[in-house]
Amino acid sequence: MNIERPAPEARLRAASLRVTAPRLAVLAAVESDPHADVETIAAAVRGRIGSVSTQAVYDVLRVLTGANLIRRIEPAGSPALFETRVGDNHHHVVCRSCGIVGDIDCAIGTAPCLESAASNGFAIDEAEITYWGLCPDCQHSATSVPRPAGATAPAPH
Ligand SMILES: [Zn+2]
Ligand SMILES: [Zn+2]
Ligand SMILES: [Zn+2]
Repeated sequence: MNIERPAPEARLRAASLRVTAPRLAVLAAVESDPHADVETIAAAVRGRIGSVSTQAVYDVLRVLTGANLIRRIEPAGSPALFETRVGDNHHHVVCRSCGIVGDIDCAIGTAPCLESAASNGFAIDEAEITYWGLCPDCQHSATSVPRPAGATAPAPH
């Protein structure tokens, strides 16, 4: 899924946020490198507009997250990660080995996408799901992992 989004300026105005260079730079940085952490985003922002403190970048991220222009995720064991793909209830797959994060479209599409057996009286509006596994690169490098019984061996080269 690849939705065309309005330009960053238009997105800020639509959210009633003042258009500032740091906000534009943070939006652009997060858009071009989804699921990056604050340090990575801060480095990208500095590359675009020069000296900006990590704290300032964090403040911008908080404002943009609060305005739903940026989504913050925090898989277990990972620092907070940010992306501009918001509002579609997609999920994430995280590599157990290298920590790379990928998007997974929701199988059902609307939150919450899981029916709970009992809601304890809560009005549930979201189910946070993280898939864990090994990314393609780490599967290739995991040569010591024993092959499951019955699996065919690769043809010799
Ligand atoms: Zn990996
Ligand atoms: Zn994502
Ligand atoms: Zn889902």
